[in-house]
Amino acid sequence: TAQIIDGKALSKQLRVGFRERVGRLVEQGVRPGLAVILVGDNPASRVYVGNKVKACEECGVRSLHVALPADTPEAEMLARIAQLNADPTVHGILIQLPLPGHIDVRRVLEAISVHKDVDGFHLYNVGGLVVGNTIFPPCTPYGVQLLLDTTGTEVAGKNVVVVGASNIVGKPMALMLLQREATVTICHAKTRDLAQHTILADILIVAAGKPGLIVPQMVKQGAIVIDVGINRLPDNRIVGDVDFDGVKEKASWITPVPGGVGPMTVTMLIENTLRSAERSLQASPADDYQDWEAPVLKA
Ligand code: NAD
Repeated sequence: TAQIIDGKALSKQLRVGFRERVGRLVEQGVRPGLAVILVGDNPASRVYVGNKVKACEECGVRSLHVALPADTPEAEMLARIAQLNADPTVHGILIQLPLPGHIDVRRVLEAISVHKDVDGFHLYNVGGLVVGNTIFPPCTPYGVQLLLDTTGTEVAGKNVVVVGASNIVGKPMALMLLQREATVTICHAKTRDLAQHTILADILIVAAGKPGLIVPQMVKQGAIVIDVGINRLPDNRIVGDVDFDGVKEKASWITPVPGGVGPMTVTMLIENTLRSAERSLQASPADDYQDWEAPVLKA
């Protein structure tokens, strides 16, 4: 049976290091700050924002929770973002998605300063991912990459299958692993015969939002299986997209849900915020964004 990839433990360990980094920043007069903008009262979003604020507190990062009513005009959001862009005590800005329908998501994401885009959703960072030099890697795939590294597996040359092609998980995940010279296949809802692809995966990453999607017959013996899915069942249990009990008998490594990818997402958000704060000490504001060095995604 598979060894468990423990995202909770890795998160905890990383956060110890974060507190030390915050201590060093504070000594130099910088308290890292993260602004989280929530529009409306989507219950799931509220839980996610709560988790992010809590993680900030735990690490000594100042969090600024901007809660706006559901009918907030787009212009007001843009004005808020402009204020935060100009605020030197704010090092990261994130907009909790989804947004109400009257707001153009792309327009508000593109309004965030690329220097503070800790979610990595600004087109500049998305483009950076394509050419392999992203400054702020999007948090969920970034966390998956670290979890993969804990297995000691060399990614180069491996068959990686990513199930799910969203802009926040599947696509950036595939690009990151391509950058590390894996052979990457992306599957999605229109893929015919999913199993024909997944069975070839040395590393299988699943982010579809469909409980029970991946059963043992679809998994290669000895594969590493990363389950990004978070699904609430009618009986309120939280499960991933992978039949964990069945698949763990075939996989060499597997992430549990909860306790796998979930905690890492928030942890990488803090990592990005700290990196931004550290950067604020090094660079003069006039510095070109392109001077940023970005070793993170290099193998
Ligand atoms: P999404 O709904 O935006 O995208 C889902 C993707 O899966 C789409 O590309 C779709 O084509 C594909 N898909 C759907 N059904 C499929 C099927 N039967 N076979 C193959 N592909 C299929 O979702 P998302 O935002 O990428 O999130 C995916 C899952 O990951 C959700 O369960 C979400 O809750 C979870 N998630 C977890 C974290 C975390 O921190 N662990 C972060 C983000 C999302």
